[in-house]
Amino acid sequence: MTSASDSLTPVVVSGFWHPPGASRSEPAILKERNQDMVVVADEYPSRILSRAAVEAVAVSDRLAQIPRRLRFPDNSLFETNDNDGIDALLRRHGRRESLVPRLEEFRPRLLLFVAATLLLIAGIFRFGLPVLADVASDLTPQSVLRVASRGSMATLDQTVFQSSTLPADERRRLETEFAALAAAADPAYTYSLNFRRGGRMEANAFALPDGTVVLTDELVNLAKGDDDMLMAVLGHELGHVARRHGIKQLYRNAGAVALIMMIAGDVGSAAEHILTQGAAVLTLSYSREAENEADRYSVDIMRRVGKDPEALARFFRILYRRGDKSPQAFSTHPGTADRIRAVEAYAREGR
Ligand SMILES: [Zn+2]
Repeated sequence: MTSASDSLTPVVVSGFWHPPGASRSEPAILKERNQDMVVVADEYPSRILSRAAVEAVAVSDRLAQIPRRLRFPDNSLFETNDNDGIDALLRRHGRRESLVPRLEEFRPRLLLFVAATLLLIAGIFRFGLPVLADVASDLTPQSVLRVASRGSMATLDQTVFQSSTLPADERRRLETEFAALAAAADPAYTYSLNFRRGGRMEANAFALPDGTVVLTDELVNLAKGDDDMLMAVLGHELGHVARRHGIKQLYRNAGAVALIMMIAGDVGSAAEHILTQGAAVLTLSYSREAENEADRYSVDIMRRVGKDPEALARFFRILYRRGDKSPQAFSTHPGTADRIRAVEAYAREGR
């Protein structure tokens, strides 16, 4: 239908013509007449449907196989699949073709670029995020940790905990021992021991990122007076605080959100946002590596305050015997037996 190769032959393009503002269309032919574009009815070429100077006609860009649309000043529309014909016509009248077809010619390179970008993004998520999370956690100021921890504690008190029913003298005794332990821990944090009835958290102990430590009545009762064992568990929690495991894990869990916020704004407000999102700490589970670090911290600190460094292994043995009833925070399945062996070996190393 077209004769784009011969610049002397007038270009004739067939397509459909839509009257102004109407969706119906009729078969039509687009021709040149002097410097004009003329649309005539397919069956009655003498009937002119639209006519305008070439420059006055708006031509849509060439995009793959999408039909070209030519809008005439009277708002009528000529539509055709004959891309080559339209391009030939525009060329003959000195109008430049759009850039889009030229980009399409570079498609292999474009695809390569897109693939490389996707790989880079995947790489950031796979390898970059844990590193970013660690950096961000190191940079998070104490004030943010305090605000976040206070928020988490308030949420837990509303939803999970009840007041402790431990006798006052028992609490005082444990507080005194804990104070000695805290004095030997990382001085960057302000430690406090808080007694609560655990409810569905049962026998448990955990630490919030600012050094707030919680010990449940159920765990105290489980220890049956073995204070060293309780202190070893709390020493393990102090290890999580000192190594910033909690906040690191929160950042890692927050994943993409954290990444975007850290890029978009300052680390402090990103941290605050993530940490104050309710009781995230409840669902927190540390990596095996973090647990091992905290276990070693317990052994070290127990030795420093002159208590039994192997006391943590006793606790794990109780958990081991209890099986599935183990407090969730400590059941890093599989491998309670492995942890017992590791703690005992590490404790012996230091002798
Ligand atoms: Zn732990």
